[in-house]
Amino acid sequence: MEEIREALSFAREHQLPVIVLGGGSNTVLSNDVDGLVLAVDLEGINFAGREAEVTAGENWHAFVLRALDQNLFGLENLSLIPGNAGAAPIQNIGAYGVELDRYFVSLDAIDRQTLELVTMDRAACRFGYRDSVFKRELKNRLIIVRIRLLLEDTFKANLTYEDLRAEVEASVDGAPSAIDVSEAVCRLRRRKLPDPGQIGNAGSFFKNPEVSEAHYRDLIKQWPDLPAWPSSDGVKLSAAWMIDHLGLKGSAVGDAEVSTRHALVLVNSGNARGSDVLELADRVQKAVKDGFGLELEIEPVIYD
Ligand code: NAP
Repeated sequence: MEEIREALSFAREHQLPVIVLGGGSNTVLSNDVDGLVLAVDLEGINFAGREAEVTAGENWHAFVLRALDQNLFGLENLSLIPGNAGAAPIQNIGAYGVELDRYFVSLDAIDRQTLELVTMDRAACRFGYRDSVFKRELKNRLIIVRIRLLLEDTFKANLTYEDLRAEVEASVDGAPSAIDVSEAVCRLRRRKLPDPGQIGNAGSFFKNPEVSEAHYRDLIKQWPDLPAWPSSDGVKLSAAWMIDHLGLKGSAVGDAEVSTRHALVLVNSGNARGSDVLELADRVQKAVKDGFGLELEIEPVIYD
């Protein structure tokens, strides 16, 4: 922790911008960085009863497996999400009907300006759909160093997502265990998503847009197959379906490409620059605006 403070003081003294890896979030650099890049590699996981405390540099998936090993449940649907634990609160990571905030208790972070350690509870983080205060009012203000969760000590499978339910049913007779669910999630993700270890990507690049019930009824008159689900603000629509429907899978700017495997993911197929990725994202947003009249919001944090 002292090293982080020293690095921050150094950056302040030399007026260098600071980019945080591992304690930040999916970050897309719009250009080359003339500044200090911090990779938070603090390690440590502690369990006490249903409580789990994990330091920011721990690999998220390895932590999920450690929790399952302790017979602590709830995170199995979040298996194999790439990145470190410190990044998880930034966009309130979510998959297959579970979001981090369901289990989140608090976090500790270093204030980049005062260098003091601050603790924030769940309410202070203002979690939303792939969103939190760290992408808004507190963007680039804190470096998360540890998070605390309260997990379940009895397992109840959450199979509300059709793909996951089908995958579990195809592989398990009878009631699935938490490990069965975790393994099914891993298989699905490996099958459907480009592996960031093999081909650079920042996960889903766009959030699913949410519209009112009335707006949704208008849209399905024209696109009866448009997938949609009830959401807290009305109806959530499938951004991937829209991008696919517009024939944008595989379209490219330089080496930045809309993944042919998953329409929500933009991949770097070689030497894409940040500006290529952002230009491609802009084209996708414009096409969806022209085609469906909807604004797609970018999910990763853009550093410019
Ligand atoms: P999927 O299961 O094929 O579903 C496609 C979309 O439909 C998803 O975006 C999902 O919304 C929504 N959906 C499906 N079933 C739903 C239900 N029962 N209730 C509400 N919404 C439903 O999705 P996928 O692309 O293979 O991804 C699986 C999960 O992993 C999704 O939750 C996705 O968000 C998550 N994921 C996240 C990232 C990331 O970088 N943030 C990357 C890949 C996958 P939601 O997206 O709101 O869940």
